[in-house]
Amino acid sequence: MSRLVNEAMCAERPVIRLPAMRSSRRRSAYDVVIVGAGFAGSVLAERLAADGGQRVLLCDRRNHVAGNAYDKHDAVGILVHQYGPHIFHTNSDAIVSYLSRFTAWRPYEHRVLAAVDGKTVPMPINRTTLNSLYGLDLKCESEVEAFLRSRAEPVEHLRTSKDVVIGQVGTELYRTFFEGYTRKQWGLDPSQLDKAVTSRIPTRFNDDDRYFLDTFQAMPLHGYTAMFENMLDHDNIDLALGTDYADLRQERLAPRVIYTGPIDEYFGHRFGALPYRSLAFRHETLDQRRFQPVAVVNYPDESVPYTRITEYKHLTGQVHRQTSISYEFPQADGDPYYPIPRAENAALYKQYAALAEAHPEVSFVGRLGTYRYYNMDQVVGQALAHYRRMSVPADATVGS
Ligand code: FAD
Repeated sequence: MSRLVNEAMCAERPVIRLPAMRSSRRRSAYDVVIVGAGFAGSVLAERLAADGGQRVLLCDRRNHVAGNAYDKHDAVGILVHQYGPHIFHTNSDAIVSYLSRFTAWRPYEHRVLAAVDGKTVPMPINRTTLNSLYGLDLKCESEVEAFLRSRAEPVEHLRTSKDVVIGQVGTELYRTFFEGYTRKQWGLDPSQLDKAVTSRIPTRFNDDDRYFLDTFQAMPLHGYTAMFENMLDHDNIDLALGTDYADLRQERLAPRVIYTGPIDEYFGHRFGALPYRSLAFRHETLDQRRFQPVAVVNYPDESVPYTRITEYKHLTGQVHRQTSISYEFPQADGDPYYPIPRAENAALYKQYAALAEAHPEVSFVGRLGTYRYYNMDQVVGQALAHYRRMSVPADATVGS
């Protein structure tokens, strides 16, 4: 069993006190301190403890494990995702096989509708979307392709998100689906965003309305938090929840640190803060079995303050006489969610990455440590690759 150290949810004193290890001549209490109990930190904790035989202290400033994938039963017992819907999808057998040690799966294929012009139509744009929106009767892939080609407007140099979408589907569809949504999501016009942002949303020529096309699409059978609890259930792992690394930093608890929090924060924002887009969620429970036909409905219209509504029972398959939903409101301030993909931000990150190289006793991993939007499977892959590369020097010291 992993031990719970300084667990914030306990009203009482910590179950186990952190050992005071102020003398550098004494052996460190742990082999490694890992900051952040999301996918990046938890996979590394599990590997280092179970495979590497190392003593790990895993801390998180939140009072729970699972990072942004955290799910919990709400007041009426419906499993909800506190930080927005998380759907697991991957093309990697190795990642599925690794995570399957800690969870069984519930097959689930994600579908998204967009509410536009008083209708709900499939996203990404497919044959059904176009037929429904324009009252067309496009019958086959080549007709859809020809229709979109007739709408597309040539863009000589694809630089921004706007260029990508207009080049693919033209100005009208760009305005209907992307302009307002992107302005809300990022607080920026698509013309100010790197082309990488929108190239994530492809169009389809057929009727396939699955949001993801990966070979493996499923949800952890008992939820993400349960999967993380299994992953971290090891004698060599101590958990310090509700504990900010800033409060442990001077303790020299281990010769090595793996940091999955924001890299700029670790270095005291020395070169300035890396910009993030944040989100606020409004969670509601309704006295009805179903609220909407699919798990997520997008609201691209700029006059609607939220970007999407999620109904969680679609994701989990849970049977309940009520239903729980959440509204998502993008905002500038708050927890860091999405790194903002602009060239100047990438340049600022590079300054921090260069500084990190001068600190070989600390590794920066995960979406906040490397300032990149990663899906969950990508973070698991990054953490497993990091573990394979890791060597643990015995005499390196922590702290700067
Ligand atoms: P996180 O999960 O953010 O974990 C980092 C942890 O570090 C946090 O718990 C934080 O509290 C902790 N921390 C930070 N600083 C400190 C500190 N100083 N001291 C102590 N603790 C600290 N991916 C998918 O594959 N499918 C999806 O459907 C999907 N949906 C998403 C929806 C939203 C709204 C968002 C924002 C992301 C979504 N993702 C999705 C991406 C997914 O959330 C990430 O891939 C994953 O959470 C990254 O894991 P991580 O460990 O790098 O970061």
